[in-house]
Amino acid sequence: MNTAPLTIRMHERDNVAIVANDGGLASGTALPAGPVLVDRVPQGHKVALVAIAAGAPVLRYGIAIGYALKDIPAGSWVHERLLQMPEARGLESLPIATVKPEPLPPLEGYHFEGYRNADGSVGTRNILAITQTVQCVAGVTDVAVRRIKAELLPRFPNVDDVVALEHGYGCGVAIDAPDAVVPIRTLRNISLNPNFGGEVMVVSLGCEKLQPERLLPPGTFSIVDERNVADTGANADTPLDVVCLQDDAHVGFMSMVDSIVRQAEEHLERLNARRRETVPASELVVGVQCGGSDAFSGVTANPAVGFCTDLLVRAGASVMFSEVTEVRDGIDQLTSRATTPAVAEAMIREMAWYDAYLKRGSADRSANTTPGNKKGGLSNIVEKAMGSIVKSGSSPISNVLAPGEKLKAKGLTYAATPASDFICGTLQLAAGMNLHVFTTGRGTPYGLAAVPVIKVATRSDLARRWHDLMDVNAGTIADGSASIEQVGWELFHLMLEVASGRKKTWAEHWKLHNALVLFNPAPVT
Ligand code: CA
Repeated sequence: MNTAPLTIRMHERDNVAIVANDGGLASGTALPAGPVLVDRVPQGHKVALVAIAAGAPVLRYGIAIGYALKDIPAGSWVHERLLQMPEARGLESLPIATVKPEPLPPLEGYHFEGYRNADGSVGTRNILAITQTVQCVAGVTDVAVRRIKAELLPRFPNVDDVVALEHGYGCGVAIDAPDAVVPIRTLRNISLNPNFGGEVMVVSLGCEKLQPERLLPPGTFSIVDERNVADTGANADTPLDVVCLQDDAHVGFMSMVDSIVRQAEEHLERLNARRRETVPASELVVGVQCGGSDAFSGVTANPAVGFCTDLLVRAGASVMFSEVTEVRDGIDQLTSRATTPAVAEAMIREMAWYDAYLKRGSADRSANTTPGNKKGGLSNIVEKAMGSIVKSGSSPISNVLAPGEKLKAKGLTYAATPASDFICGTLQLAAGMNLHVFTTGRGTPYGLAAVPVIKVATRSDLARRWHDLMDVNAGTIADGSASIEQVGWELFHLMLEVASGRKKTWAEHWKLHNALVLFNPAPVT
C-alpha cells in the first residue's frame, strides 16, 4: 500500500488534481510535485495545484468543470461550494463526424459458449421469462413462478431460471399519448431479449389498456427456432401464448395459477432442449453504465471499461453506452466521434428531446448529481459527465437508439436512456443486452434477474469492504499496482467466462435483483 501523498491529474492543462490516498491527506502535507495543502482534502476530492483567481476556470479532464467563485489559494480543497457550474453546451454548431480515428486492428480468436436464437441473437443465459401486460397480474404471476421453480424447474436442468417481467405499466395511463410508445416498445423488446430464447408467454388481466395484441402484435414475437419446428410443431404463425386471468374458464384463484404453470411447462421443455455452443465474441451485446459514482470513476473503472469497450468493438461485438444527463456536457466529443452526420444528428435529437423533457419538470441536467457523488469528490454534473463518458472508449460511434428501441447493428451504439440505474438497465435489456457492466465508486449491490451484471469498483477500499459484491477491482489503477490496459483485459476475459456460464457474478451468486423500471415520459390518468 502506497502511503506517500498520491494525487492524480487527468490532463496537462488541469489546475486541480484529486487525492488518491485512503482517508485523504492532512493539512500541511507537502505534495511531491506541487504545493503544501492548506486544508485537509478527503480521498477523491480536488486540490488546487496553483492559485486560481476568482472567475477563472477550474480545469479537470482539460475542460472547465466550473469557475472559481472566489480566489482559491494553491493547496486548497476545491469543493462544489467554490464552483460556479458552466451553462450546458448549446446543441447548435457542434462538430459533426470530424474525428476519424485510425481503425484499430480486428481482435480475432476470442469465443464464448452461448445459446443461439432463431433470430440470430445469442443468449448468455437460458431463462423462461413471463411477460405481463399490466401490474394487476403481478401477485398471481409471482405465486405461479414460485410453484414453477419448486415443481417444474428441477425437471429442466438446462434452464437457468424463471423470471416474471413485473412492471408498473399497462393501465391507468394515457396509452395513446405520443410518448407512450417508449414504455410499450420497452416491454415488447424486453420480452424478446436474447436470454429468453424466443419463448414468449404472456399473463394478461383482460380489461387493461395494454392489450396483449398491442404489446406483441403478430409478427413481432415469432422467433421460434426453425430447427425445432418438426419437434414442437411451433412455427412463425404460432399465436401469442396468453393466459388471461379474467377468462371465463378460470374459476377460483388456483385455476389461474394452474393455467400459468401448465403453459410454462411447454416453454420449459423447449428451453431445456437447448445447448450452449461455441460462438465468436462478436455475439456479445454489452451494456455499460455507472451508478454511485465518485471522483475515481473517471480515473480508474470507467477508463478500464472504455479500454474494454474498444477491445469489444475490435472483436466485432456490440457495446451500448447510455445515460443522457451524463454525456450531455460532452456532446461535442460524441458528435465529433459519430461515423456519419446522420448518427451525429440522431444524438443531437436525443439530447434535445431530453433537455425538453427535463424542462417540462422545471429541471435540467444538474438534477443528476447525488449527495454521495459530492461526498465522493464530484462537484457537479460537468465533472461527473467527463468521467462517465470515458466508458465509451475511443471507437467511432456508429448507431443511436431512442429509449426502448432494439439494437440494429454491431459496433459502438449510443442508447439514449435516463441515468437512473434501474431505468438504464431496463432500457438496455430492451435493446438486447446479454451482458451488463456496472461501475461504482460509492458502492451499490445492483443486479438484474435477466442478465449477468459484472460490477467494477473504482477504489480498492470499496473492493476490500464489498469483497463479495464487486467482481473487478479497478482501484488497483489508482494504487499503481495495475494499468488501465491490464484491468481492461481482465474485464474482457471475465466477460467471456461469465457469458459462457462458467463463472457467476456476485449478484447472480446472491440472487440480487433490482426491479425492472420502465421509462414512461407520457401522462398517467
Ligand atoms: Ca446510472
